Amino acid sequence: MTVKQVVLLGPPGVGVKAQASELARRWSVPHVSMGALLREAIAKPSDIGLEARPYVEARELVPDALVMKLLRRRLEQPDVMLNGWVLDGFPRTVAQAQALDQWLAAVGLPAATVVYLKVMSGLLLNRLWTEREPDETMPMLRRRLERHEAEIAPLLEYYQPPGSETDPDGPAQLKTLNGSRSFAEIASELAQMGSEETGAARTIRDEAELDSLLARESLLVVDCMASWCGSCKQVAPLIDRLAEAYGDRASIMKIDFDTNRQISKRFGLKGMPSVMFFKDGELLETLTGVKPYQTYSAALTRFLN
Ligand code: AMP
Repeated sequence: MTVKQVVLLGPPGVGVKAQASELARRWSVPHVSMGALLREAIAKPSDIGLEARPYVEARELVPDALVMKLLRRRLEQPDVMLNGWVLDGFPRTVAQAQALDQWLAAVGLPAATVVYLKVMSGLLLNRLWTEREPDETMPMLRRRLERHEAEIAPLLEYYQPPGSETDPDGPAQLKTLNGSRSFAEIASELAQMGSEETGAARTIRDEAELDSLLARESLLVVDCMASWCGSCKQVAPLIDRLAEAYGDRASIMKIDFDTNRQISKRFGLKGMPSVMFFKDGELLETLTGVKPYQTYSAALTRFLN
């Protein structure tokens, strides 16, 4: 994905808003939340806010034209136009989805990537039950999920018309992710989407994937990093640069420490970030901390020869 424009959809209880906020933080792009935009407009109060207020107070959908007007105003701002965005709470109707697509086309931007975090409803009921307001009953929670299902079905069909999954030329706009996993696992899979189609280093999902790479790749570089580690953020672009320069001769990847803590002991890591160089599955060198780009490229060149 060259322009980072992501719509995050999912049922109540899956943490769509929190994931959207985390993804925006990891990618350094603005998080646009429709609910927050509406609350802001109402608090000011603006004309749109005055019109939207009765709907929001009744927890009913605000008319499509009104939410689209508010969204367009936000998406036209330079921080969003230049860097992209992660959107939650929108679209809630097919008319909203169409309006967003039409607006993106009109301003010359590509269509957004739409990600649906899918969870079985039994699991969701359990989650919602533990997080519910004190006066919310099980039938009320069931109705909330049913309302979501009725709302999401036409949207999923709009983004992935039946039959289009097998059409290689069809729009690959919708990605469905398993939303039953931990917050950290989902967050790291979402963040990885941004590096798939560029020359940047891809993120290894788990230790099983690491093992299969070790068995397969003759030269493998793995940058072990964590979202909370400041120096990891300095090293990450150097590893992306390495992937762009040497990606045709070696496999250059990243791995998230938080979801793969056991690798620290396995490879005797002494700090974060740790950039590991493997040849034929064997760990030959680990560079810990921030090094100049030339140190990484020199190590790689040494093992290439
Ligand atoms: P949220 O914070 O996403 O729960 O949204 C709060 C309220 O804002 C909802 O109950 C709706 O009244 C309104 N709202 C949020 N997003 C939309 C949308 N895309 N279309 C219409 N109304 C919305």
